[in-house]
Amino acid sequence: MERTNGTMYSIGVVAGRLNVSVETIRLYEREGLIIPQKTKAGHRRFSEHDIDRLECIREMLTKKGMNLEGVRRVMAMIPCWRIHPECSAEDYADCPALNNSALPCWVLEGKPALCAEADCYTCPVYQLHVDCDGIKSLYHTQTFTKTIPPSIKGG
Ligand code: SF4
Repeated sequence: MERTNGTMYSIGVVAGRLNVSVETIRLYEREGLIIPQKTKAGHRRFSEHDIDRLECIREMLTKKGMNLEGVRRVMAMIPCWRIHPECSAEDYADCPALNNSALPCWVLEGKPALCAEADCYTCPVYQLHVDCDGIKSLYHTQTFTKTIPPSIKGG
């Protein structure tokens, strides 16, 4: 499980910090909003970054008037193919992440091998600093080194 540095917390501790139930955090996982790490025994473990992500999700749900579907769609809009360092134009030309607006890339099926075999938890896309009001800025602040093929842009 050791894929991050720093303290890892159990789901009970995280639920207490966020003042939500353990079942609520499990729901966010089932909804594809988070992908927690698990111990060999199957116990979920959360980093401070995971907790930041959960706080962002809570804020969108409780203060921004969004529902789970809306939060998932906001995450689905992150242009992962522009952030993933190894993703080439060939990789993403047929990738469902390019056109699917309903699911974040880390829960999509049918991705190219590069992503299908990847550990999404450690991917820079999933590890982006999550700022509830800053997701739109991702479109402006990322270094866009790749362009979308004309056939996809047009359709
Ligand atoms: S490795 Fe996973 S999180 Fe990263 S771009 Fe691919 S599907 Fe998304």
